[in-house]
Amino acid sequence: MENKLKEDKIENIVIIGSGPAGYTASIYAARANLQPLLITGFNSGGIPGGQLMTTTFVENYPGFPDGVLGPELMDLMKSQAERWGTNLCESDVISINTNNHPFELKTLDGVIKSNSIIIATGASANRLGVVNEEKFWSKGISACAICDGATPQFRNEELAVIGGGDSACEEAAYLTKYGSKVHLLVRSEKLRASAAMIDRVKANSKIKIHWNTKVEKANGTDWLDSIEAKNLKRGLLEIRVKGLFYAIGHTPNTKFLENQIELDKKGYIACNSGRPETSIEGIFAAGDVVDSEWRQGVTAAGTGCMAALAAERWLAEKNLSKVIIRETSEPKKTLTSSSFNEEDTNENTFDLNSEWQKGSYALRKMYHESNKPILVIFSSPSCGPCHVLKPQLKRVINEFNGGVQGIEIDIDKDQEIAKQAGINGTPTVQLFKEKLLKKQWQGVKQRSEFKEAIQKII
Ligand code: NAP
Repeated sequence: MENKLKEDKIENIVIIGSGPAGYTASIYAARANLQPLLITGFNSGGIPGGQLMTTTFVENYPGFPDGVLGPELMDLMKSQAERWGTNLCESDVISINTNNHPFELKTLDGVIKSNSIIIATGASANRLGVVNEEKFWSKGISACAICDGATPQFRNEELAVIGGGDSACEEAAYLTKYGSKVHLLVRSEKLRASAAMIDRVKANSKIKIHWNTKVEKANGTDWLDSIEAKNLKRGLLEIRVKGLFYAIGHTPNTKFLENQIELDKKGYIACNSGRPETSIEGIFAAGDVVDSEWRQGVTAAGTGCMAALAAERWLAEKNLSKVIIRETSEPKKTLTSSSFNEEDTNENTFDLNSEWQKGSYALRKMYHESNKPILVIFSSPSCGPCHVLKPQLKRVINEFNGGVQGIEIDIDKDQEIAKQAGINGTPTVQLFKEKLLKKQWQGVKQRSEFKEAIQKII
């Protein structure tokens, strides 16, 4: 349920952030009939859905004995939040004003007023700042192995991951599916990942761990060719790699709160230990934005629940809650079937007029036979950002009422096509008209950008 912002409306609760903390808070607040507004975030602080969108299997979230894909888990939480009446707003909060009540939140789409706020903006992946990082960003250097690992340039090549936590270990293991060898570069003498993860890395013969190693420089011409690192015992090393992936921790997404709310020395929101209340009455915090220690999906969800219950109590005490009466006591069940298993189009299922098809067969046919604009999304398995972008593209296509067509290419399955198209990361979207490439985008973009480009050529 997406919300058009109404300037005169005063919300009961605005939740900022769409990770496990934000969605759990919204499920509780919605079930308390407070109809929360959840601002998902868009460009700031990573993609909507949070850090689990760039994870493969989450094996420690209770209730999923065989693990669940991070993006799929977030989809389920989102559906549950919407089912109970959460309104979603796809935007970024630029600043909040805590000096007046109701509080004011300035977003990319206008100002929102709310009686209470739950901040669940999480944390973002850090960059290292090695020499030539900018030059080779997306040309060999990436902060997301899970999103970019299937890129053709990494196939059967040596790759490197920097870090010693769970992310670094998970990404190193994941990259062995694609690379010939993975160098895990650890700045100290120990891994801080969980024991099960360390065992997995140590048992993988394609992973070589370099202890006491600090990367300083990236080299290459058009694409990364090698890295220079300093090793405590061996001195300066040159390692030939085609990919370098950062997994070196996170920084809390609190920049927009400066001078409005108390932060600790590291930039996390200051709360009393184990409590969701912040320095401002009526504003609560949950998840990684307040937690530099535990940082798990399940702890974020737990604190999201606490923040919602605390906000509900506070609104009731102050006589500020406007309870929304539901039309029916039992909301309609959701359709939670995942779109991860969509079938490729083949000669029997191909339809020249279809709005959305999948795979290389459909792309070849449409490329030659369709005279409409075609949006091609190059995705990869378990790529969270692709999962965010796909429904957005489908909505854009829908709005053109059959005037535009979409095709999804899984670069893991259709490697040749990805290579020919020069794809070096997912999601990449290409817009074609009559065999000509009109525009290309990399990463998650606003729907308006696609619409504008299509309108120009239609
Ligand atoms: P993390 O635990 O903070 O680990 C960051 C790693 O990066 C550390 O090994 C750190 O080294 C290293 N590092 C930091 N700055 C560096 C620099 N400038 N140069 C080189 N290395 C540097 O971060 P994370 O691995 O992203 O994990 C975050 C949280 O998410 C953790 O609680 C983790 O358990 C959880 N997580 C869980 C899963 C899972 O269960 N599937 C997957 C991913 C993450 P030092 O050790 O020397 O400080």
